[in-house]
Amino acid sequence: MERYGSCLCGEVTFAATAMPSIQACHCSMCRKWSGGPFMSVPCKEARFTGPVGRYASSEDVVRGFCSTCGSNLFYLANANGIYAIPIGLFADQAGLPFRAEIYIDEKPDYYAFANETKKLTGSEFEALFGGK
Ligand SMILES: [Zn+2]
Ligand SMILES: [Zn+2]
Repeated sequence: MERYGSCLCGEVTFAATAMPSIQACHCSMCRKWSGGPFMSVPCKEARFTGPVGRYASSEDVVRGFCSTCGSNLFYLANANGIYAIPIGLFADQAGLPFRAEIYIDEKPDYYAFANETKKLTGSEFEALFGGK
């Protein structure tokens, strides 16, 4: 399903083919990047317009941000071309259940989600989808 959204300042907008789920990543890199667990929607395709900055956080991963306001825009794994776009950017957030938590082995003890989710360790996730 095609969904639309924007960054905080509105200069970056996007259209994305979203899969019907939200996932949280607990890995230390995502927590440093986003300030907490990274809650995102996996998207098969995404088109961004506006001042998009890019940062290669590892050999296989690019993280996008708005060059004006600094909002995180996407995590892109080169291995599979799937964009993980923060749920907070979407204009319409209905119909997207919180289904999965990844890198559960890197989750700090100071929080835990009460939602019933599928939980994968980092190595379980990488075996399925590659990248970090
Ligand atoms: Zn912005
Ligand atoms: Zn992560």
